[in-house]
Amino acid sequence: MKAVVYRGVEHVAVETVPDPKLVAPTDALVRITTAAICGSNLHSYHRETPNLAGAVLGHEGVGVVEDVGRGVTRFKKGQRVFVPWRPACGQCWACLHDQHSRCTTVTAAFGSKDLPGSQAEFVRVPFADVGLDLIPDGISDDDAIFLTDIFPTGFFCAENGGVKPGDIVVVMGCGPVGLMAQMSALLHGAALVLAVDRVPFRLEMARQLGAVPLNDTQVNLKERVLAETGGRGADVALEAIGMDGSALLAAIPLVRVGGTVSMVGLPTEEAYAFPIRTAFSADLTFKIGLCPAKRLMPRLINLIRQGKAKPSQIITHRLPLSEGAHGYHMFANREPGVMKVLLRP
Ligand SMILES: [Zn+2]
Ligand SMILES: [Zn+2]
Repeated sequence: MKAVVYRGVEHVAVETVPDPKLVAPTDALVRITTAAICGSNLHSYHRETPNLAGAVLGHEGVGVVEDVGRGVTRFKKGQRVFVPWRPACGQCWACLHDQHSRCTTVTAAFGSKDLPGSQAEFVRVPFADVGLDLIPDGISDDDAIFLTDIFPTGFFCAENGGVKPGDIVVVMGCGPVGLMAQMSALLHGAALVLAVDRVPFRLEMARQLGAVPLNDTQVNLKERVLAETGGRGADVALEAIGMDGSALLAAIPLVRVGGTVSMVGLPTEEAYAFPIRTAFSADLTFKIGLCPAKRLMPRLINLIRQGKAKPSQIITHRLPLSEGAHGYHMFANREPGVMKVLLRP
């Protein structure tokens, strides 16, 4: 089959790789109909990641069940399914406490050396009864693909931040996850969402979603947030960038006394210099972590089916899988007009 394979810094290639096969009785094989490139794919794109050499990439996929092992009871051939970003066993302590993203039995996410990813024609899904979810009628691939990672991630960020109706919320980052966090803050009833980025096209997309865009190379963020909040500071800041931590450091002073900073951006460093005195002086609450996509999925499905959320509006490109390398290149370079890039096998 064809798949997007990691070959090193700024080098992915669409190659022919062995077809995946059922290994355990609890496995399923899914024929991918739509995959997506995630911002977190770019971490390894920009930095040498030796443990990914030769790996099939991708952790956002939807498709159709092609085959199931004899231990799979919930799914059968032909059903449309979500393949959320990582599988889980359903039996360990973390899984039994709704923390499937911290499953201790399955520790690999899709698109790693141990678990080939979904930017491919087919993917093997371990513990399929737990890892897969049915796509209900009325949800297109274009919306469904967002439920496998970044819509739950943005929603988790807003929920973890405790966003309440009437709140004023700052969101650091207007990439795909940042836009999902902005959409989610509005769904939680935020009165005003201030969306921070430096790329004009990304700021314009935030504006179209209902946020007020702020280019932090052109405005003084702290002054602007204080002006919008009667001098208090934002109720909540949502951090959707991660990386070297500079966005987190910029967010902390923007929050009011008793406010919350909620972070889902993937850190690239082992440790940051955390402004602990600023946090202490503000009685700040800091929340961080990986989204439990499975737990949030039923509510997000309802929001999409009722027309309250339309994550597919941020799709800018639908490319054939064969153009995967081109998709990575334009997303990584934040080319004008590029936001969410889908790949169709
Ligand atoms: Zn992702
Ligand atoms: Zn588990």
